[in-house]
Amino acid sequence: MSEKRCLAATSGKVDQPYPHSGRDWASWLWHTHHGQPPRGQPPTPGDAEAAWTALIHLARREGFTVERGNCAGADGFAFWRNRRIRIRPDATPARAVIALAHQLGHVLLHNQIAQREFSGTVMCTGVRKVEADSVAYLTATRIGIDGTAITFPAVSSWAGTDPRARPAATIQAVTARILTATATIVTRLDAAGVTGARPGAPARTAGHVASGVSTDVHQVANLTRSRAHGTQTATAPGAARLPIAAQRDGPPASELARVHDKAAQFFRSQMPGSWAPDYLAGRGLSSAVQEHWLAGHAPAAWDALTRHLQSAGFPDTLLEAAGVARRSRRGTLIDTFRDRAMLPIRSAEGTIIAFIGRAAAHAGPDVPKYLNSPATSLYDKGETLFGLWEARDALAQGARPVIVEGPLDAIAVTTAGQGRYAGVAPCGTAFTASQVAALDGAADLRAVGITVAFDPDDAGKRAAVRAYHLLIPLTEKLAALNLPPGQDPAQILAGPGSAALAIMLADHIRPLPDLVINAEIRRWTRRRLSYAEGQIGALRAAAPLIAAMPPAHVARQVARLAAILQLDHALVTEAVSDALADLGTSPAASSRHDITAHQASLRAPATPGALAANNDSPLSAQRIFERTAGVAPTAARGKRASADRPALTGRPVRG
Ligand SMILES: [Zn+2]
Repeated sequence: MSEKRCLAATSGKVDQPYPHSGRDWASWLWHTHHGQPPRGQPPTPGDAEAAWTALIHLARREGFTVERGNCAGADGFAFWRNRRIRIRPDATPARAVIALAHQLGHVLLHNQIAQREFSGTVMCTGVRKVEADSVAYLTATRIGIDGTAITFPAVSSWAGTDPRARPAATIQAVTARILTATATIVTRLDAAGVTGARPGAPARTAGHVASGVSTDVHQVANLTRSRAHGTQTATAPGAARLPIAAQRDGPPASELARVHDKAAQFFRSQMPGSWAPDYLAGRGLSSAVQEHWLAGHAPAAWDALTRHLQSAGFPDTLLEAAGVARRSRRGTLIDTFRDRAMLPIRSAEGTIIAFIGRAAAHAGPDVPKYLNSPATSLYDKGETLFGLWEARDALAQGARPVIVEGPLDAIAVTTAGQGRYAGVAPCGTAFTASQVAALDGAADLRAVGITVAFDPDDAGKRAAVRAYHLLIPLTEKLAALNLPPGQDPAQILAGPGSAALAIMLADHIRPLPDLVINAEIRRWTRRRLSYAEGQIGALRAAAPLIAAMPPAHVARQVARLAAILQLDHALVTEAVSDALADLGTSPAASSRHDITAHQASLRAPATPGALAANNDSPLSAQRIFERTAGVAPTAARGKRASADRPALTGRPVRG
């Protein structure tokens, strides 16, 4: 259900006009995010408390302690020097949750910038304020908390209007960053059962989901209306499109899982005598590896699996709902997968929720190479990563995730990686924010980083650029594997072998930002413009991308851009500085401050700039914070559990 949303948000295939006013922005966000089912019931005080606790746990995972205390009039702020988030003590539970979600937005998205700030905090202006507010807004609507108090400035104030600044690209990139951070937060809230999407709970009935949708739509409608000037009538965003889940009225998840289990056993039993074992061996997968990944074969017959499952007592409706069988034009039930090498796709918990089937080498040109199970209430392509469950132990022990294009590549990387690399593949979709969140839950991405290993063709390059925008909020350790033309990891495993692939994974990599800048330059050199015009066009287009990168990447990309375009280093530096000034909005002091931090990575160590006014953390608040930092909040003093987890309402929380 989130696939379309994520594609729309990250691939440029957008089915809605770009937002202009702050109100447009709110509904744009809601549209692009609304694949997540909203909760059914209005939140209770207990929900706010549970959300508060879940957000504190997330903050702790990011290395931040949360406390309640004087914020000098602001709702809260984050301070990097001692890694603390403070929320004002008199905020209502709902407002405190929103304030904490806002600060987590900063922590997840602005960590690198903040660490370099002389003030020890992040300047909450311009695009950074929009990002943190957007994360808080989406988090609030997801829980069912009223986010009316959050308002957004006109989009042009931070994305610009000059076509040379590529406002559409800025909007796309900012949206992708917001969705990534929100997905991380929502995953945590879902796991805590705060958002209504309780893990392991039986599938919700259509009625339940539908009522949840209408609640949320009303809420957003009210929100939108309250922002409208005068008597203007607002249309509820998303009202016309119910999430797919709302249209499903299917069997319980446990029944669907039982079908998949039985089907996997059947496919496995069909291996002997079929072409699949030899084919997979030819792709570098030994019989032990085939067994480990539960590889199987779907027979070439029309209804072999269907008849097998029917005779085991499964009703036709269940087989259809699970996606393993479908109605033919004549109305009979036939197998979804025929004459394919089969691999099960598992949920993060290890349940088999779908299959992916590889066509035989002898299949006709009209047969798609890979076929995925259709979406069901168990399986959402946009939220699933093939290989994630199989790699869970390696990832937990510090293996570096490698994002690849296909399931055989994922198996190849995990097999050759020997616990140091773990391959994961999106299931026939573009890489999405939900998949990033799933990966983030399985690995310490900031510490281990990520390698992207897409094909070196144009589609692969575009996918790598998209992955960069989704991943950069989480880690600056981003690499791209240099694959030889026409080769993928599975072919390297099958040809040169496991050791060769392991060496490539370790040594044949380059910073992923290289690909992002190359892609931008290529857009310009392809056009038949005079060289000077192309040079300046590429410089203007690439400079904002470099300006938005973590400082650790800036110097390298400035040097590369200067070399590729044969421009003076100082000219490129100046363009990046100008782009930084454009990224922030009005307060010139804030922009100057950013440039100081970024230019530090270009030249000399940072000289402390003047502290700018900050919506979150006015100077007075910082002083108060510094004076009292490290002192436990009064309510929590003397109680270990509470000192760990400050109360939402000023009273200590239970256990
Ligand atoms: Zn802020």
